Formats: sequence, C-alpha cells, structure tokens
Amino acid sequence: MEKLLISACILGASSRYDGKSKKCLTERDLGRLIDNYELVPFCPEIYGGLPTPRTPSERVGDAVLMKDGKDVTENYKKGAMEAKRLCELLGIKKALLKERSPACGKDRIYDGSFTGVLTPRHGVAAELLIESGISVYGDSEIEMLFDDE
Ligand code: SF4
Repeated sequence: MEKLLISACILGASSRYDGKSKKCLTERDLGRLIDNYELVPFCPEIYGGLPTPRTPSERVGDAVLMKDGKDVTENYKKGAMEAKRLCELLGIKKALLKERSPACGKDRIYDGSFTGVLTPRHGVAAELLIESGISVYGDSEIEMLFDDE
C-alpha cells in the first residue's frame, strides 16, 4: 500500500503549539485514508526539537521567530530535514499537511506579524518537501488523494 506522510495533529496528536490537536478529518475521510494509504504521522516542529506546548511561531523573512522574538529557525530547518529524510527512507511520495502552519502550511501561511494575516508562502517543511519532489496536499485538498476512487 502506498505510504502517506501526514501532519500528526490532523490525526489527533496533541502536537500543536497550544498542546492541542487539530483533528479536522471527518470519520469518513479518515476511513478512506486508512483504506487507501499506510499513514506515517509526523510533526516537524516536535522533530525539530521544540516542546509542546510552545509559544507560537511564524516565518519572518528567512527566519522563523516565536511571538516573543526567540529565533527557532534551526528547529524548523531540522524538522523539515527530518521530514525529507523520512520520505526518502520510506519511499514516501505524497504528504497531507495541516494548512497555515509555519512548518506544514502549503500555499498560504501567517505573514509574520502575529495578527492572523495570511501571505502566499509555504511552511518550512512543506517547502522542502515540495522542492524534493514530494506531492504535498493541504488538509482542504484531501479529495485529491482519492482521485482514482
Ligand atoms: S508542525 Fe505540523 S504536525 Fe506539528 S503541530 Fe504544527 S501543523 Fe501539526
């Protein structure tokens, strides 16, 4: 069965900065994912060495900063590299990632002002996976994973 990297918080893991999950799948979609893919849950922020809960972060230029100004760029880079390494190791070609996150977000993330404004950009891990040839889907694009059904 094809493997799918999936943001751990989508599956209900309490890996988000606020110590909560972001389970946004319907039971039907979860069942379809399990029927069609071998799921590989991953959280780039935790694998990058950040604790849970943690102060929220956003991409600011080339850096990733916590709301209190702490520079966590290296944590985000490490988490992204771990995601890439895992995909290469396990032959993963697709990823379903949580939208708007500074790590997992695809296409649109918060703009670094911590005011809830979005900007057209990928999160650090999503960006590296896309550059590495992985097909990345945001959580609102889940239907695209079942195109063959
Ligand atoms: S880094 Fe990704 S998997 Fe981890 S909590 Fe944030 S959105 Fe979820």
